[in-house]
Amino acid sequence: MSAKPYSPGYLSKLERLTTINRGFFTYDEGMKLFDEARRSMAEGTAYAIEVGSYCGTSTAFLGLAAKATGGVVVSVDHHFGSEENGPSWESFDKSLFDRERGTVSTLSRFRSMIHSLDLEEYIAPVVSTTSLATKFLRDRADFIFIDGGHGEEVAFNDYFSYVSLVRRGGVLAIHDVFEDPSKGGRPPFEIYTRAVASEQFTYMSNLGSLYFLRRR
Ligand code: MG
Repeated sequence: MSAKPYSPGYLSKLERLTTINRGFFTYDEGMKLFDEARRSMAEGTAYAIEVGSYCGTSTAFLGLAAKATGGVVVSVDHHFGSEENGPSWESFDKSLFDRERGTVSTLSRFRSMIHSLDLEEYIAPVVSTTSLATKFLRDRADFIFIDGGHGEEVAFNDYFSYVSLVRRGGVLAIHDVFEDPSKGGRPPFEIYTRAVASEQFTYMSNLGSLYFLRRR
């Protein structure tokens, strides 16, 4: 395996950039995501899919895993934000608001994040809904990270659309899995429990609400 794909200076830059996106995805979660993705990509074809890019924080850590393994991360997002990123919600970031469309628009910040971290060679952004993207994303991935919308329909659609694309022995990661309903919305937890109940996946580890499952 190649040397570490980052230097201490690079890591502090990455840590600084992580705070810009209002902490939806923390630096510690990012390093955990990087570790797990790197391991499973090194064992397979070095191909990962991210479902829900938002502004690219988690994408950057997956990009580092791709850099370490000579692989690629396909990051799928329509870039108009999830329901919970809308103007009446507490996760609304008004600096991302697209007046013409009436929603946030995250593509520009996503691209500058990836550019400023020098990861453009390892990350292929797919600007698309899940339904459209899964019409052409057909190859099995070593690692799939679901971090899309938290609405029930959206979360289950992401789950059912991508779950069969995790290779045998590969990893399914899900963010915002809260067992305690007072800590966060239900659907990410429900898709996690659905995956475990399917008996196709076994629990590997978690860091807070970031869960990792291995495909049998
Ligand atoms: Mg999330």
